[in-house]
Amino acid sequence: MRTVKVRAGGRQYPVLVDEGALDRVGELLRERLGAREVLVVTDRTVSALHGRRLRRSLARGGVRARRWTELRPGESAKSLATARGLYDSWLGVGADRGTPVLALGGGVVGDVAGFAASTYHRGLPLVHLPTTVIAQVDSSVGGKTAVNFSGLKNLVGTYHQPELVISDPQLLGTLSDRDYRAGLAEAVKVAVTLRPDLLDLLEREAEGFSRRDQGLLAGLVGGCVEAKSEVVGRDERDEDVRAILNYGHTVGHAVEAACRGRLRHGEAVAIGMNAAAWVGEVLGVTVGEVRTRQNALLERLGLKLALPGADKNLILRNLKLDKKVRGKKTRFVLTLQVGGASVWPHISSRLLRAAVRFVTS
Ligand code: NAD
Repeated sequence: MRTVKVRAGGRQYPVLVDEGALDRVGELLRERLGAREVLVVTDRTVSALHGRRLRRSLARGGVRARRWTELRPGESAKSLATARGLYDSWLGVGADRGTPVLALGGGVVGDVAGFAASTYHRGLPLVHLPTTVIAQVDSSVGGKTAVNFSGLKNLVGTYHQPELVISDPQLLGTLSDRDYRAGLAEAVKVAVTLRPDLLDLLEREAEGFSRRDQGLLAGLVGGCVEAKSEVVGRDERDEDVRAILNYGHTVGHAVEAACRGRLRHGEAVAIGMNAAAWVGEVLGVTVGEVRTRQNALLERLGLKLALPGADKNLILRNLKLDKKVRGKKTRFVLTLQVGGASVWPHISSRLLRAAVRFVTS
């Protein structure tokens, strides 16, 4: 088992990465948290695939699920209504401050269960059991929780670090091909911006990653968590270096919103990374190797780099709504060389428009 220690919010918590860890969740909860009962939050798809094994694992460790809540799968569950439903359900069983919430699922389950956990009784202990690539390499670490509000993504949220994260790469075996590949885009982002060794690994073993080789995935998840933990340890509240994790996300989010559910988040981020590397080249600060290696890898992993024919005007309108783009200065993350990303204090709206044209023609 690989353990990565994350330091954030004035304390430290472990991320355990191991094949088959799902079967030891009960034992780990007893051992690490002294828990005898938990409030499970999952979604219907994940519960149908992995719920039985989790129930058995909890029972073996002598941990009771006081509540088992199954959300509808997908982004629409990230709402205040879902959080309210969780409060009602937890109140119904008299859950108190000592009862941990166990989030079994992707980023959606983690974000909304984390939000409800952080606000109920001003904070219940939280354990993440991430089941998607995005959740294992990114969202389960760092403490951001959120729900969407009034059509705006992640508008309402908190910082609430988990007590423990248990990542089992075996769970990624049941993801659809599309969700799996889209998730890998976030791992490529971490590799390009922060970890040249992970970029080497992804390039060398791209076929193994496409086959979902368990050992390779465990190494990749562990490396990405280490990188994120280093960044979050320096800047928990997104005031400075944590912004680097937004590489590819400015154009990516605008493209994602313009495609309204037709593109996975990671698919949009891949296009956004292509745009960001191009912007860096035009400014003369990004070496050519960044775009060449990043794009070749994304393509080998089955991701598209552009969306010819997409609605440019809608993407540009979405960009204007982005909080990073609003105001006089547009901060933008550039990767100057592999492993060397930096937050650029301002890029012009003309260059942003050109970048959108670049990835849509
Ligand atoms: P998701 O949770 O919606 O999962 C995608 C789909 O895969 C869902 O339909 C789900 O039911 C299904 N699924 C999950 N695990 C599965 C498995 N093992 N086998 C088969 N199907 C499975 O989406 P996601 O891509 O994991 O996460 C996206 C969300 O994460 C977004 O809301 C985003 O804002 C959030 N996010 C948060 C952070 C953070 O720091 N908190 C970081 C990145 C992303």
